[in-house]
Amino acid sequence: MKIPNNELICPDCYKSLNITNNLFCKYCNRRFIPIGEIYPLLPSNLEESKLAENDAHVDMEWIKKPWKIPAFKYLDCLHHEEDIIPLLKSKERILEIGSSCGWASLNTKLCYPDSKIYVSDISLNSLFVSLSLFKYFKMDMETSAFPQADMENLPFCDNLFNAVYLWSTIHHAVDPIKALKEINRVVKKDAVLIVHGESAFSKPLKYIVENIYFRSEKKRAKQLGINEKKFTFKEWKEIFQKSNFHDFEMIHDRDLKFVKTFKQKLSYKIINHIPDNFIDKIGCAIHFIARKH
Ligand SMILES: [Zn+2]
Repeated sequence: MKIPNNELICPDCYKSLNITNNLFCKYCNRRFIPIGEIYPLLPSNLEESKLAENDAHVDMEWIKKPWKIPAFKYLDCLHHEEDIIPLLKSKERILEIGSSCGWASLNTKLCYPDSKIYVSDISLNSLFVSLSLFKYFKMDMETSAFPQADMENLPFCDNLFNAVYLWSTIHHAVDPIKALKEINRVVKKDAVLIVHGESAFSKPLKYIVENIYFRSEKKRAKQLGINEKKFTFKEWKEIFQKSNFHDFEMIHDRDLKFVKTFKQKLSYKIINHIPDNFIDKIGCAIHFIARKH
């Protein structure tokens, strides 16, 4: 889909973009030249940790072999089907932020072919994989867009989307409050925001989790130079409260049937014996559903 002229703004000066031959900002003279079929719409002062995301989440081999995308193997799609798809029903414009290889957006498009799907990521490689996935499934490309975007400086005009979802993405933000404020800006009144696949811990456990349980994840993030953050339940609540999404629900995820590894299965077995009012003394996977008023 060619994103309509009036939907895009310059990620540097936040003024609307002109479409001449390419996208052009007449206010700061920045030109946005497409790479293949993707428009890079990133701010010019982007943090290095964000650029490092380019190679962190996809294998370029998936462009030719989409059936190798791990989400299909690991049943993440079923989780998406149960937790996210029902909330996106009858939504005209749906934005996914941090689409990675694009499987969740593809599933959304398969369920709601009449919706306009915006598949966004900060990683150009991720978008190339997403694009090939959509083409492999012979999706109507006229109603899908693949902009390269930074969640903390979204290149979209105000009040555009009816729904936004992020799958295990917001903890990669340098400033998650800024990212949520940006999302609040680009969604319409009554729009739904779904922040899926995050985790929360009690304060004492957060240290143990970061440094022992998720030691290899921390090491990988350091090697790649990307952001991998963990938050306590209290910190998550503050992030949402400060972001203008005051109406939000935090859901404790205890759904054993979708977890992947032995370590995760064992964790869930333990967590599922803890009553809901004690869970914030330990930790668990969480999702958020928020609305803009
Ligand atoms: Zn500009």
